[in-house]
Amino acid sequence: MKEYVQKILNEGTVIMPDILKVDHLLNHQMDINLLNDMGKDFYAYFKDQGITKIVTVESGGIGLACFCAMHFCDVPVVYAKKEASSILSTHALSSTVHSFTKNKTYTITVDQRFLLPTDRVLIIDDFLANGQACLGLCDMIDKAGATLVGVGIAIEKGFMKGRSLLEEKGVDVHSLMIIQAFEDNRIILK
Ligand code: 5GP
Repeated sequence: MKEYVQKILNEGTVIMPDILKVDHLLNHQMDINLLNDMGKDFYAYFKDQGITKIVTVESGGIGLACFCAMHFCDVPVVYAKKEASSILSTHALSSTVHSFTKNKTYTITVDQRFLLPTDRVLIIDDFLANGQACLGLCDMIDKAGATLVGVGIAIEKGFMKGRSLLEEKGVDVHSLMIIQAFEDNRIILK
């Protein structure tokens, strides 16, 4: 078993009742060796796909996307913003996303200068649950006329519908670990 999977199994905590908290490793405090190892594994899977841009959504996916990009030389990271910005205004691509953890719908935006029709895009995110964040990003990539190569996810909750929604659209989803269930606050892997 990969060291990062073991670490998440040992140290992740299950809360309310199907949210996994790993904010000391992934998305608040960041364990950079763990992120680097994950980034290396995304690179190994997607390295021959001619990726020109890595796209994520703020804020949980940013650290992971950056470590992933370090392994693809010269590939920038673009993150979709959740807050409206007057600087973006007229040249923004946008989409609507419903957040599973916050139970709130928000608009994500990317300046269209950073997503071009010539881009081959890899989406990276920390979690896949109902797939709404990734579908919002897919929509923006479509609007930009860019090509989506695939989606790389650190932790997929395999008992939720995110993967099937993405696969229905023909998206290649590569998850580093897939959780089958939470039982008695323990993580059961697929
Ligand atoms: P989805 O859009 O696939 O429903 O949910 C994915 C997004 O919700 C991720 O970007 C992540 O921020 C958040 N998320 C979903 N499930 C979890 C979870 O179990 N733990 C944490 N920390 N975030 C989650």
